[in-house]
Amino acid sequence: MKLDLDKINAFSDEELKELIEYDNNIKSDFSEELRIRADKVRREHYGTDVYLRGLIEISSYCKNDCYYCGIRCSNRNADRYRLTKDEILSACENGYELGYRTFVMQGGEDPNFTDDIICDIVSTSRVRFEDCAITLSIGEKSYESYKRYYDAGANRFLLRHETADDAHYRKLHPDSMSLENRKRCLFDLKEIGYQVGSGFMVGSPYQTTDNLVSDIRFLQELEPDMIGIGPYICHKDTPFADCDNGTMERTVRMISILRLLFPYALIPSTTALGTISPVGRELGLKAGANVVMPNLTPAEYRSSYAIYEGKAYAGKEAAENRDLLVAEVEAAGYNVVTSRGDVKSEQCT
Ligand code: SAM
Repeated sequence: MKLDLDKINAFSDEELKELIEYDNNIKSDFSEELRIRADKVRREHYGTDVYLRGLIEISSYCKNDCYYCGIRCSNRNADRYRLTKDEILSACENGYELGYRTFVMQGGEDPNFTDDIICDIVSTSRVRFEDCAITLSIGEKSYESYKRYYDAGANRFLLRHETADDAHYRKLHPDSMSLENRKRCLFDLKEIGYQVGSGFMVGSPYQTTDNLVSDIRFLQELEPDMIGIGPYICHKDTPFADCDNGTMERTVRMISILRLLFPYALIPSTTALGTISPVGRELGLKAGANVVMPNLTPAEYRSSYAIYEGKAYAGKEAAENRDLLVAEVEAAGYNVVTSRGDVKSEQCT
């Protein structure tokens, strides 16, 4: 039976499951219909705008041991670095000159980045780049810490929930971590006033379609401003070295489903999607994504932030190659805009 996409907001779990699994061939008629509808909804809310975020990977040290991640603390082969305040600010400076108006400071959970240091970096950036959004993505913290960063001038926070299913979460993380705390963090961030981004990997080890339905249900509860998804990609120095990667097709299909369910959301076409296929990022944009996050990390550190195998950081993934990026976005039928790219206010419930 063909699903009626006009009714997607009222779909049962079974119908969502059927939609996710419908078929994985992005060239099929129904997949194309899904994509065209998602693109229409995206154009109704955001026109052809594509927002850029300059991604600064501030530290590859991490105290956590997520089984899927290349910078997990147990990986003795990982190259570790941490940027200084000056390096972070000069990356922002470069980004500003290139036309970036959002800086995403992302890193492993590095205890050396104390709250005082984070607040110092955020407050200095807030003054120096007053027309820019400052986004943090530095993991799970207390309410008080998140509040301090916010008061220092941070506007947005990215924290993927990774999986909304407790049993699946347990298979991906050690006992020292919990889904309950991750969710607590997301609701704390919302309460404080951040624009909040969550999301998950597509095709992570042991993931079932039911898990993806749970992810959608959790996002409907959270109502995040940003939703970041990308394919899971193996890293050889993790316990999941022999697992399969997620697929471009399923990731692109999930982007379209999320666009239909969350018309207002900022949805990136991620580096991971661009890593598993040279056309991945373009197809992500055509499927409903409206954000791209090129790499602004100082070039000498980029290869060390290896969260998965073969992570792209050169060419059009490099923030300095803005021309290549603009050309790619325009070829896909959209336009790069120089603005903070805040979420549009009307959220669906
Ligand atoms: N420490 C912060 C946090 O926990 O949110 C930010 C850094 S963390 C490395 C950023 C994201 O990378 C994670 O949320 C996860 O979804 C993604 N990631 C980690 N390992 C990955 C892999 N093997 N394939 C694809 N994405 C991965």
